[in-house]
Amino acid sequence: MAWHYFFALPPSKVNMRIPVLALPLLLLGGLAAGQDQAPQSSETPSTPYTPSLDVRSMDKSIEPCDDFYQYACGGWQKSNPIPADQTSWSVYEKLYQDNLMLLRSILEQASGAPERNAVAQRIGDYYAACMDETAVEQRGLAALQPDLDAIASLRSVKQITPLVARLQFAYGDKVLFSQGSAQDPDNSEQQIAELDQGGLGLPDRDYYLKEDAKSKEIRERYLEHVEKVLELAGESQERAKKSAETILRMETALAKGQLSRVDRRDPYNLKHKMKIAELSRIAPSLDWRAYYKELDYPSFEIVNLATPDYFRTLNHQLAKEPLANWKTYLRFHVVDSFSPYLSSPFADENFAFYRKYLRGAKEQQPRWKRCVQYTDRDLGEALGQAYVEKVFSPELKASTLDMVRRIEDAMGERIRELDWMSPETKQQALNKLAGIRNKIGYPDKWRDYSSVSIVRTDFAGNVERANEFERRRDINKVGKPVDHGEWQISPPTVDAYYDPQMNDINFPAGVLQPPLYDAKLDDAPNYGDTGGTIGHELTHGFDDEGSQFDANGNLRDWWTKEDRAKFEARTQCVEDQYAQYVVVDEVHINSKLTLGEDVADLGGEILAYIAWKGATRDKQLAPVDGLTPEQRFFVGFAQWACANERPEELRLRAVTDEHSPAKYRINGVVENMPEFSQAFSCRSGQSMVKPPEKVCKVW
Ligand SMILES: [Zn+2]
Repeated sequence: MAWHYFFALPPSKVNMRIPVLALPLLLLGGLAAGQDQAPQSSETPSTPYTPSLDVRSMDKSIEPCDDFYQYACGGWQKSNPIPADQTSWSVYEKLYQDNLMLLRSILEQASGAPERNAVAQRIGDYYAACMDETAVEQRGLAALQPDLDAIASLRSVKQITPLVARLQFAYGDKVLFSQGSAQDPDNSEQQIAELDQGGLGLPDRDYYLKEDAKSKEIRERYLEHVEKVLELAGESQERAKKSAETILRMETALAKGQLSRVDRRDPYNLKHKMKIAELSRIAPSLDWRAYYKELDYPSFEIVNLATPDYFRTLNHQLAKEPLANWKTYLRFHVVDSFSPYLSSPFADENFAFYRKYLRGAKEQQPRWKRCVQYTDRDLGEALGQAYVEKVFSPELKASTLDMVRRIEDAMGERIRELDWMSPETKQQALNKLAGIRNKIGYPDKWRDYSSVSIVRTDFAGNVERANEFERRRDINKVGKPVDHGEWQISPPTVDAYYDPQMNDINFPAGVLQPPLYDAKLDDAPNYGDTGGTIGHELTHGFDDEGSQFDANGNLRDWWTKEDRAKFEARTQCVEDQYAQYVVVDEVHINSKLTLGEDVADLGGEILAYIAWKGATRDKQLAPVDGLTPEQRFFVGFAQWACANERPEELRLRAVTDEHSPAKYRINGVVENMPEFSQAFSCRSGQSMVKPPEKVCKVW
């Protein structure tokens, strides 16, 4: 089941088992080239301060009631062009880049210090191995050779099972499908085994199935990419060309069996619990007992097969395609998924296709920046300890927790007041709200990486071993009770999420920093910005997907039929509104995909507004910089989203991202808030003002 992030997660952070954005798309990253200087002193630099409401980021020549996003962010957009190595540039991404500078200095100290504790040694050596370009160039493909040899020596498709299992350990869901542990949808305290779709090189099934000119062009370009990778891995040009065609054909067949992103938003579509015997009837081409034995799973009775149709399709393909084609397929995915960690011909080709062509970046990120992000991904809770010490004080934790409690109170108040929800459903909703766990800053217990062997001269090997560690950790959860203290993202991550099965909200230290949460500023912009984000995450517990889980995180319908129908009529209003918006060229928002996020954006801001009014009830608020307190609340809200995005990136996200583009995450919300119209004295007929009967009211 999905976790609900607030912001499109950097692909490097996406849990590798979840087929969202593929591993090779790695890395947001990027400061302007001129700022690419190593910190000179041994003092750790602090991140530069930008206030959470900055009037210089506004464009006051724009009428706020015509285009509020442009009014609040026009200045920011002008003074923040997209750096050459970035695919988009936003307040969130800029803050993450600032974090990278800080993490870099931590890592440089850790890699060079003569006397280090075990944590510093591990992260320091990982970083040093990644930065050692000479060693990386010399190693070339060497780290992958044992796996490539194993693929070459495969004698029959029947023997593919143990090999697939071993390869998935290092290369994850690029190898046919994804596997691991998951919370039992019917008993959220228990971990069970799960299988899900995977196995594609392009970011989504739609890339294989759509027939428009752009999709065809992308497939042509993908063929060239596959050919290039296989040539680098030693195939002749002629053979590589044929292999590429074979791979695209095989992946297209697999894509046809995949569940779409929109269909995946219904958790019932992903629940098919069964015994191994039944799994073996659905996909007999794989020997499932041998598979789980090879992966050394704890013994279990039940596996959840998230996408049975995909496994039927895969089964059919395994029976149909000859052995030689599977060897080609596996060889490509092993090399392609590890290209970022190999010598420069591989890393450059990976960049050229996944980041430059598909997402619009102009330049590869400097090596240090990639290495910091890999360390954060692979040893995040080790690096995160040092980060938290620098940026997250107990005072900051206390003040953000206070804000969370106020937003929760506002949500309770709002639920009690809803005129369309019955008392029965309200009681259940209030129970669910009371059951939400608040996780703020960092985990109470840090992950122990002591079993990961880090070798200072073997970067690709380190990545492989870190992947194996993570997968072993994941597999070992099967059959055990759920650990509610666990986090899906590291402390420096600039993002937040709601997990419907945990029924918890997670705000890492990285997202509770200026200009998002600004301890130096007053409540208005802080509630508009971070308050809205907290409200957004809480609301996910009650959106079209999250509302299907109860207070304990179990998939159980707690709504009355009538309330559910009323709720859906209300969210339909939001879906219709966002379907009108254009992303790029002819592409509109797929508002069935973004519905949960759009509803959370609206609900979150309404809750933040109520909570802000409550928190400042007894305070005398005065205008600042010519803006009333209410106007400052809304400008603070809009300025979390200031961004510039390349058209390629917008196009990709329109398929893969459950969030609407930044502009509509602001304008789409204020159109539905009469409080906004009042704050800016908007007149009817202006773009941000809907006729009262058209305003969408969910919360
Ligand atoms: Zn969200």
